[in-house]
Amino acid sequence: MQYFDVAVVGLGAMGSAALAFLAQRGVKVIGIEAAYPAHALSSSHGDSRLIRLGYFEDPSYVPLLLRAYENWHLLEAQLRTEILTISGVLQIGAPTSAIVTGSRASCQMHGLAYEELDSRMLARRYPQFSVDAEDVAIFDPEGGFLRPELAIMGYLKLAAQHGAIMHFGEKVTAIAADDAGVSLAFGENRCRARNVIVATGPWIGELVPELAAHANPIRQVVAWYRPGAAIKAGPQDMPAFLYDQEDGSYFGFPAFVKDGIKLGRHAHFYEPLDPNAANPPVNRRDTDLLDDFISRHIPSAAGQRVNAITCRYTMLPDENFLLDHLPSEKRIIVASPCSGHGFKFASVIGEILADLAVKGETSLPIDAFSFDALQKRVQGAENLV
Ligand SMILES: Cc1cc2nc3c(=O)[nH]c(=O)nc-3n(C[C@H](O)[C@H](O)[C@H](O)COP(=O)(O)OP(=O)(O)OC[C@H]3O[C@@H](n4cnc5c(N)ncnc54)[C@H](O)[C@@H]3O)c2cc1C
Repeated sequence: MQYFDVAVVGLGAMGSAALAFLAQRGVKVIGIEAAYPAHALSSSHGDSRLIRLGYFEDPSYVPLLLRAYENWHLLEAQLRTEILTISGVLQIGAPTSAIVTGSRASCQMHGLAYEELDSRMLARRYPQFSVDAEDVAIFDPEGGFLRPELAIMGYLKLAAQHGAIMHFGEKVTAIAADDAGVSLAFGENRCRARNVIVATGPWIGELVPELAAHANPIRQVVAWYRPGAAIKAGPQDMPAFLYDQEDGSYFGFPAFVKDGIKLGRHAHFYEPLDPNAANPPVNRRDTDLLDDFISRHIPSAAGQRVNAITCRYTMLPDENFLLDHLPSEKRIIVASPCSGHGFKFASVIGEILADLAVKGETSLPIDAFSFDALQKRVQGAENLV
């Protein structure tokens, strides 16, 4: 039996970052991954993830985002690789929409730079977009996108350089705590650790029964479109974007890979999926939804869809996060998969998980992501029914 200070279960976005932070602090750490980095059934593949600072969802995320930006820049410096591209992010919607009012409020509360553009200003500056006449945009100049596969491989490389042990292709099937520590079973192997971090994304309910009823994996579809020659669609010319429509919130990226502009609708059709089954294939309803948005709002790419894939979100009540010790067992720390908007935070969540595992606490603001807070949200939702 091998003994470790910390074991990290699941080496996706959150687990790979936690492993790197721990190894760099000189902690004796093991990471165990059921498959391989950023695989197609995880939540962390597909070229790009949005990052933005003026968070419309809630201004209380901003301090974490500031630290996430610092940590992404640190990772880039350590790897000498570009992982974060600042293209700006347009947050577009009706003047009274949550995306517009929330982004403005977040920027004002935290003194962040932003610009407001009406539809005519937007058309002049960014002719790639065709937006409804009454809609407006909050432009976040610090926004942009991350490359998830490079980030995860980068964190795993740093972890390896600092002595982390890693196992791939082995699923942890049991975690049990006793007086001597926490034991883990994976494949033919067993090990023991003082503390364990569980960061298993869509599978979180399997090892954390407390979350089985609350963490719901759903299907997400994204598609890529080759822009016509008439527009400049690279990150120097076209910002990433979120566009709130009556039927949901669409997100997209400039063309920085050969397949072009990427587009999705947040949570797609909210269709539940079984994390252990293959992803249901992309179907006509999926592509009709995205093709229609492109025709209306990025017309030069209409009819130019070249690829579409399925990915997985895992939703918690209120689309929030959970980062906490298990209430029944403080040596087990849980990192939720973050309701479809967590990747941008992975660089700070890695630091937080390392703090919780080593010091039992963190100075970063995570009270809103505790089991207690989750319980209150669940009760609040039940009381509303
Ligand atoms: C299409 C799409 C677009 C998104 N867009 C954005 C965006 O623009 N901005 C943003 O911030 N976020 C975005 N997100 C959300 C973000 O990508 C996720 O919140 C994040 O990637 C989740 O990371 P994770 O580490 O929790 O899960 P994962 O990356 O899925 O990692 C979990 C890992 O655990 C492993 N595992 C599972 N069970 C076990 C076990 N028992 N033993 C060992 N290993 C196990 C799995 O194999 C997997 O590799 C998007 C998500 C999707 C799907």
